[in-house]
Amino acid sequence: MNILEVSHLTKIYGKGENAVKALDDVSFTVEKGEFVAITGPSGSGKSTLLHIIGGVDAPTGGNVTIEGTDIYKLNETKLAIFRRRQIGLIYQFYNLIPVLDVLENMTLPLLLDGQKPDQDYVKELVKTLGLGSRLHHLPNQLSGGQQQRVSIGRALMTHPALVLADEPTGNLDRKNSREIVELLKYSNRRYRQTLIVITHDESIALQADRIINIEDGRITRDEVLRQPSHRE
Ligand code: ADP
Ligand code: ADP
Repeated sequence: MNILEVSHLTKIYGKGENAVKALDDVSFTVEKGEFVAITGPSGSGKSTLLHIIGGVDAPTGGNVTIEGTDIYKLNETKLAIFRRRQIGLIYQFYNLIPVLDVLENMTLPLLLDGQKPDQDYVKELVKTLGLGSRLHHLPNQLSGGQQQRVSIGRALMTHPALVLADEPTGNLDRKNSREIVELLKYSNRRYRQTLIVITHDESIALQADRIINIEDGRITRDEVLRQPSHRE
């Protein structure tokens, strides 16, 4: 089953002489449970693509359909709800809220959605992420690797269908990078979450089920490396 259909996406920033075509007729589909790496040179349109898939920034043309919902046909309120429930976003610089502790940062998306965290799931995530002794620390009391773990916890808290990560290890040393990738792979397998990761790191891209390479706003390579792990 396709969880994601990206169809003829175009994105133009700016107008007239200053217009930049960041995406040029990009189409592909992603199967439920797939782990896709997006690679390509700086400025090729990777972040733009991820933001459009994540419902953060509307395309100039084309459609994004997630689990059968054409997301840019939703009004803003419905899109915000859809995004909170179905999409987990992970950034290079964590984007944690400095005045909230680890537990509060992780559960915020649920609270904003008027839901109560499932305590068993919270415990399981905290354990998996190795954050047990840090629940009431503030982000600035954590190392970079720990902050990224919190942001992963926050992304997974709502059981999203789609997890999108933009250079999640871009700011981390080797050891922490490896651990973060292992966590993402674990949750991809454990919860059958579909995972799309932008990365410059070839050793990470090679762990994906599939690599999509983008250059100048177009797909220049789309290669399946292996079947999604839940089908192995
Ligand atoms: P990548 O993630 O591959 O580095 P981006 O998607 O960030 O690429 O950028 C693609 C192109 O769009 C670049 O030329 C970039 O300068 C341009 N761009 C990205 N965001 C904006 C923006 N908000 N306004 C204008 N141009 C932008
Ligand atoms: P890393 O080498 O992984 O980046 P750090 O050297 O930043 O880790 O931190 C090592 C340990 O010290 C971590 O467990 C982190 O939680 C803790 N720590 C770092 N900064 C602070 C701080 N300002 N207050 C409390 N604990 C901290």
